[in-house]
Amino acid sequence: MNVKINDTVRVITGKYKGKEGKVLTTSPKHNTVIVEGVNIVHKHEKARRANETSKIVTEEAPIDVSNVEVVCDKCGKATRVAHAVIDGKKVRVCKKCGAVLDKAYSKKAKAEAGTQEEAPKKRVRKRSAKTAEVEETAESTSAVTGEE
Ligand SMILES: [Zn+2]
Repeated sequence: MNVKINDTVRVITGKYKGKEGKVLTTSPKHNTVIVEGVNIVHKHEKARRANETSKIVTEEAPIDVSNVEVVCDKCGKATRVAHAVIDGKKVRVCKKCGAVLDKAYSKKAKAEAGTQEEAPKKRVRKRSAKTAEVEETAESTSAVTGEE
């Protein structure tokens, strides 16, 4: 299946045609997905215990994965999914604009950028620690309270 959890998908056919929602669960075994706010069913739940009340609950029922298309973050279109290999990793890409659809991949790219930003910060901390050691005890304690 080309649809994964947390994808935003658009329903392309059926009663909920045109509706967009987040994928809550996928079932590759049955080729179905549960999409937030799509295919709402009412379940009549009977009270089983004394402190429970009978009620009607609404919840999403699974729909066939072929009824939905992934919505591209970049171009905003519902698209079929193409595949590409970037940095030796297979990723899903938008068939219409070529943007990477895998959120995990873009998250990783962001995380890598984050570690690069963090590295100089660590160096700054080390420098300040060294200067604190050189300085008198009273001054270093005031520096510590200043950091807090
Ligand atoms: Zn796109």
